[in-house]
Amino acid sequence: MVGGLKGLYSRVFLEHRPTHRHPENPARLNSVVAGLARAGTPIVETFDVDDSLPYMAHEKEYVDFIRSLSGYTNIDGDTYFSPGSYTAAIHAVSAAVHAAKAALREGTDFYVAVRPPGHHAGRRGRAMGAPSQGFCIFNNAAIAALTAGVRAAVIDVDVHHGNGTQEVLYDRDILYISVHQDPYTLYPGTGRVDEVGVGSGEGYNVNVPLPPYTGDDVYVEVIDEVIMPILKQYDPRLLVVSLGWDAHADDPLAELELTVNSYVYLTERLMSLGVPIIYVLEGGYSYRVLEEGTFSLAMLYKGEKVRLERRSETDPHVSSRARKMIREVIRVHSRFWGLS
Ligand SMILES: [Zn+2]
Repeated sequence: MVGGLKGLYSRVFLEHRPTHRHPENPARLNSVVAGLARAGTPIVETFDVDDSLPYMAHEKEYVDFIRSLSGYTNIDGDTYFSPGSYTAAIHAVSAAVHAAKAALREGTDFYVAVRPPGHHAGRRGRAMGAPSQGFCIFNNAAIAALTAGVRAAVIDVDVHHGNGTQEVLYDRDILYISVHQDPYTLYPGTGRVDEVGVGSGEGYNVNVPLPPYTGDDVYVEVIDEVIMPILKQYDPRLLVVSLGWDAHADDPLAELELTVNSYVYLTERLMSLGVPIIYVLEGGYSYRVLEEGTFSLAMLYKGEKVRLERRSETDPHVSSRARKMIREVIRVHSRFWGLS
């Protein structure tokens, strides 16, 4: 967008703390903020906080359960809760909602640097039979899309399927595209191509599962052949990017082989649509990737492409399976969209 990029952040997000070593910890966010600061991106730290927002996506019983927690406890085997967690989670939702409204009003894009992440949080917490909430409490991206007041699309590039977002949006005509590692090889075990939405949401849920070790060369094809054609036809007024940096080759939790090149290419293509964009932080567990990726993305808004890592090439055995999967996505979604 012509208005450039702003960061949205609060120190409150650091108060969601594990008691033991955990990949989702405050240092992640320090890396992201360092990347934004290095790029000279202005960072806004004030926004209204609204306790009623989680009810937009989650059932009352679940929100009330989260509000009843105190001290240090575990929501499930993956997802911890600490004395600062509710405040952090409600600020995270509020920041995403604020960013969407401000982006629409000002024509500025926003990098919403929040924790805890949100895309695995479903209507009742755990989504679609997943074994856990995958470090998430409230679904920041889905709630931003639901409250934007305009036609919004959610593009989820986190390596894990955004099962919570899919569940929340499944029967609504809000476009959700998730590109993720094959659910048979990674948590949360959902995100198959044939999950296309129901009722008025039919055709608006697009899953692109990719085999482990898929690299940049194939990812670019997903962007050009699936994401961009569908987005152009959907014609959104707001883009909500569920920005997980864990599809990067260096991420310790998953096996896609992307470099920052794929993220930069996607960002450039999304920016070319001329629609306000908010990037809502999801996963990403390599501190280096969080900082360098964020820096590279933010520098695009300064009109500068920083020197990137060498593009990754997919092994031929993997790329033939990945391309078969892209053809399958196109075949299934040709019922709803003009795709070739
Ligand atoms: Zn993830």
